[in-house]
Amino acid sequence: MPRGRVAAGGGIGLVLALVIFLVTGDPGALFGAAVPKQQPQAQQQNYQPSEREQQLFDYAGVSLKDVEDTWNTVLPQYDEQYKEPTMVIYSDYVESGCGAADSGVGPFYCTRDQTIYLDLSFYDTLIQRYGAQQGDFIMNYVIAHEAGHHVQTLLGVTDQLNSLRQRVATGQMSQTEFNEYSVRYELQADYLAGVVAKYQANRGYLEEGDLEEAMSAAAAVGDDSIQQKAQGYVDPDTFNHGTSQQRQTWFMKGFRAGDLSEWDTFNASI
Ligand SMILES: [Zn+2]
Repeated sequence: MPRGRVAAGGGIGLVLALVIFLVTGDPGALFGAAVPKQQPQAQQQNYQPSEREQQLFDYAGVSLKDVEDTWNTVLPQYDEQYKEPTMVIYSDYVESGCGAADSGVGPFYCTRDQTIYLDLSFYDTLIQRYGAQQGDFIMNYVIAHEAGHHVQTLLGVTDQLNSLRQRVATGQMSQTEFNEYSVRYELQADYLAGVVAKYQANRGYLEEGDLEEAMSAAAAVGDDSIQQKAQGYVDPDTFNHGTSQQRQTWFMKGFRAGDLSEWDTFNASI
């Protein structure tokens, strides 16, 4: 995405709150439950972001605006109304509608308050720990993926997944079986991120290399890639987001389609 694009001027529904807490404690599980083991002592600070943090913050605002424009355009084609999510950008620690989270959790979407939570350190984490290519468009992918969960929530898919989760809780479904649905749910969010990228491409917002950056981010957060790095082997039964290859494939499917025509990951061969 070209530098210097600003979200100002439009941005109805764009809510960015820089919430900063200082905390000492262990980071929680990656992309897992957004609840650290111990309730950290949080203290709100009058925080001065660094220049780099400010850049990421501004960039996230532009990304979110594109996400909103995309879904405000696409969903009415399906007689669905888009309702904008909130995005909270934080450092270290945040209280979300789904519980407390620290930056070790990674970006997440909370259905209860329909808010995307993004920690400022994740850009560096994605590159340094997960091996994504450098480039601002990797954050665009992350934001569009989380916003994909918002779209899934608006369209009732999240409710369906949650009722399956309920079946695991009551012993009617195995965790392994549920994980497969979880993978399909996550791949659908990747597809939806691809739809956003298509919208941005149609508007001339993409720069050379942006798609490759998104693909490298999708690969970096594949279950196989994460497990290989973390434990030295992969266990497909525990996959819940999809492999690097699957995540790239579904992102590109969304990009090619540019709408919801091929979004049904639950009835497709993945
Ligand atoms: Zn996700």
